[in-house]
Amino acid sequence: MPSLLYSTNLQSPDVDLKGALLQGQAPDKGLYMPREIPRILLDEIIGFRDKSYPEIAFAVLRRYTQGLIPDEELMRLCTECYNYIVPIERVYGRSFLMRLDQGPTASFKDFAARMMARMMRYFLAQEGGELVILTATSGDTGSAVAHAFHNVDRISMVVLFPIKEVSDRQRKQMTTLGGNVTVIGVDGQFDDCQALVKRAFTDPELGRIRFSSANSINIGRLLPQAVYYLYAWAKLQENDEAAVISVPSGNFGDICGGLIARRMGLPVDRFVIATNANDEFPKFVATGKYEKVVPSRVCISNAMNVGHPSNLPRFVALYGGVMDEQGKVSKQPDFAAMRRDIYAVSIDDAGTRQAIKEAWQKYKTMLEPHGAVGWAGLVRYLESLNTRPLDPSPLAISIETAHPAKFPEEIQRLLGVDPPLPPSLAGLDAKPEHYEKGPNDYGWFSDFLKRKFPRG
Ligand SMILES: *Cc1c(COP(=O)(O)O)cnc(C)c1O
Repeated sequence: MPSLLYSTNLQSPDVDLKGALLQGQAPDKGLYMPREIPRILLDEIIGFRDKSYPEIAFAVLRRYTQGLIPDEELMRLCTECYNYIVPIERVYGRSFLMRLDQGPTASFKDFAARMMARMMRYFLAQEGGELVILTATSGDTGSAVAHAFHNVDRISMVVLFPIKEVSDRQRKQMTTLGGNVTVIGVDGQFDDCQALVKRAFTDPELGRIRFSSANSINIGRLLPQAVYYLYAWAKLQENDEAAVISVPSGNFGDICGGLIARRMGLPVDRFVIATNANDEFPKFVATGKYEKVVPSRVCISNAMNVGHPSNLPRFVALYGGVMDEQGKVSKQPDFAAMRRDIYAVSIDDAGTRQAIKEAWQKYKTMLEPHGAVGWAGLVRYLESLNTRPLDPSPLAISIETAHPAKFPEEIQRLLGVDPPLPPSLAGLDAKPEHYEKGPNDYGWFSDFLKRKFPRG
């Protein structure tokens, strides 16, 4: 029997993973979550020490795909998705950095987007259907998702981006793909792009086209993010010691993956949740009152400039509460448990820049702005422990979510060196670009979609 997922708004029927993946959001605007989180016994997790990343991904994800995707097929998907390395570096003592930046777009979003795309392909092949993925992006999500769906059968992808607000490198990561990926530079802002996409989703005139979205509210973007926490711990642990894990957070998809890994059995002593100056979550944990930051604050860790994290209802659900998509709490989560498990901290741009400099000067570790927020959060937490000099420090793992070469100007300014380009970004500048330019006008956009997908 396939396991079931419920909506965090509690007003929609349960669905299986296939339904949740192809729908994205639940009809009641809630987010899908597993009814039961399967347990993995500690011995099996310890045994991950001797397994490859694709093997660990298979062992974790098969708990959710039973009865829907045959094991041999799932193993093939894991091998196809995770064909790059996942480095873990010692920074000093027992503190480590896991770099999730070796995928095709040099961002941790590759881990989940690639698996989601392939699971969708598998389910569509069973039905004989086709799907058009519509996404608005301010930068990183668009490139990770476009790469993930590039050349995936049965799926076409349309990405809208604000033409004046995306860096050259970010744009080229999307516009050099071609094939089934159509990219439109809109003469407007990110919010305009998002409004065009939302209207297309509900436009009856486009009703014959089957649309889906690929943003982080899709459960397919979440479950694969539980895997790397289990991987890191298994590779580093001695004596089954629970770890401290620090996660730089924006929309809270990454940390929800971590919390799911913990519920599956991963020994975690504490999650450090580090936000930038958008501090709505640290305040929520401290005071028990939730207030969005409107408008969101602009920081150098731009993928985390989020004043109302879209995955927060999932986080609240994991602590027994109910929060709707607007952020209204109708049932309080267990704050005492949350405060025991979590250290939430906000790091501003000055603290972020200082962390980049210190990690380089003290340890020759190169961070970029997002990973630096996580690292600074971990340093704060370890300092707060007030251990005596001879006490052993805990096993600590901080997550680096992007490659420093995605932020060359900031790194050059702070450290005086150019970050080396990873293979995924090398050669990008010379590739030809293909993209449409469009006005911020819904009539133009819907005509474009009708011409592009005449048969639906
Ligand atoms: C998206 C993103 C984040 C934030 O991840 P969430 O899952 O939204 O919390 C952090 N760092 C980078 C580089 C990102 O692209």
